Amino acid sequence: MNDYVNENCVHCAAQTVIYHQYIGDGCCETCGAWQVDEYEQRVRELEAGGLTRSDAQGVADAEAMKEDKG
Ligand SMILES: [Zn+2]
Repeated sequence: MNDYVNENCVHCAAQTVIYHQYIGDGCCETCGAWQVDEYEQRVRELEAGGLTRSDAQGVADAEAMKEDKG
């Protein structure tokens, strides 16, 4: 038996997200996407450090761009 979390998938909004406690992330059965990708994880980290969500996203965006350019 699967235990769906009581949350919509962040990608397709279906309520078929199964939480995997051992990795601290959920996977959607409908679209197959994980709920927390690397980017989202970084945003949460920055938020935990005291940034607002929009600031944290700005920083994560800038970091992602830097990584792309090597
Ligand atoms: Zn989904």
